[in-house]
Amino acid sequence: MTLSQGRPYLATPGPSVIPDRVLAAMHRPAPNIYEGELVEMVPGLIRDLKKVARTDGHAAIYIANGHGAWEAALSNVLSPGDRLLVPAMGSFARGWADMAERLGAVVDIVDCGTTHPVDPQAVAERLARDDGSIRAVLTTHVDTSSSVRADIEALGQAIRETGHPALFMVDCIASLGCDVYEMDAWGVDVTVAACQKGLMTPPGMAFVFFNDRADRVRETARAVTHYWDWRPRVSPELFYHYFDGTAPTHHLYGLREALDMIAEEGLEHVWQRHATLARAVWAALDCWSTDGGVLSLNVPDAAARSHAVTSIRAGGENGARLRDWCTREAGLTLGIGLGFTPQDQAFRIGHMGHVNAQMVLAVLGSIGAGLRALGLPHGAGAIDAALSVIAEGGGPA
Ligand SMILES: *Cc1c(COP(=O)(O)O)cnc(C)c1O
Repeated sequence: MTLSQGRPYLATPGPSVIPDRVLAAMHRPAPNIYEGELVEMVPGLIRDLKKVARTDGHAAIYIANGHGAWEAALSNVLSPGDRLLVPAMGSFARGWADMAERLGAVVDIVDCGTTHPVDPQAVAERLARDDGSIRAVLTTHVDTSSSVRADIEALGQAIRETGHPALFMVDCIASLGCDVYEMDAWGVDVTVAACQKGLMTPPGMAFVFFNDRADRVRETARAVTHYWDWRPRVSPELFYHYFDGTAPTHHLYGLREALDMIAEEGLEHVWQRHATLARAVWAALDCWSTDGGVLSLNVPDAAARSHAVTSIRAGGENGARLRDWCTREAGLTLGIGLGFTPQDQAFRIGHMGHVNAQMVLAVLGSIGAGLRALGLPHGAGAIDAALSVIAEGGGPA
């Protein structure tokens, strides 16, 4: 006997839950890609994507996942031998940096560990000492492995105050449509994102937002290739050039619906919902971690925690055991630990995109049942604490 039959719930940090509205919008015959509805839909889609990233700059869409967005962004601004400064708060900034090295860049990692965000002053000092060879500062807004969220606003300000011309490039794959993000106001030159996390669409589309300053660097970049070139994608002579080939037809319909849902709720309310649901998760963990409990939040400072994903240490192989129990007995799939050694000690809860109060409470309740079933020590009052956060409702984002 198992209690897992029923609607399964994938609470991983990507792909996220796909709304029925998005699925329904994709359920249609193949459209004409040369004229008609789909062709007319794309300019509005790009306009609305830019609203979510809070930019008046440009947006290029690629048929790709997040790794494709990484390569697309790098290709347009890099030349072999360029130096990059990479504040790293987990596996994902390092992954992006590795890719840059393969493209011929020389990478300086600013190692921030995996529990705290980068200190903007540390980055400013590195720039102040630079002889002008650093082309860009690359980092993650939210590192999905550690669930550390960087203060991109403060980082942008610190970079600007040095007067250094390096581009500021930010990976928002896990945070766009979840955490507050203001690309233009925070001085970000290039933002990369993908559709399968906060944007609630099946994996397959990647986005690169860039401003005119970044586009001027594109003039001399020698890593740019035909497919990744962002220029034709933002000012195509033919619709076919938006995607350098066949459009991701059904994904575009799905994304259109997802962006409509975000607009109907209001982006500020979307951010607030994520903030409150995240606080409910943290409140439960704060209780479970007491009394010699095995679970603890990876990021001690609440101001440095993602609102989209929470990384949890559980010791031993308890992360894997809890995940297995939840899948087998509750129909709930949790995220694997990423970037932890050993990996099986940790797990992650994705609470990004199409997530509401009852879903988060079900996740917490299932984890609580798993802790009991496995006999893992945990403090009391966790679900009660989460209920209080939900009962108080939407706090400040
Ligand atoms: C998910 C994620 C990626 C990788 O995206 P893929 O679609 O798996 O290639 C990169 N960076 C961050 C911050 C992510 O959350």
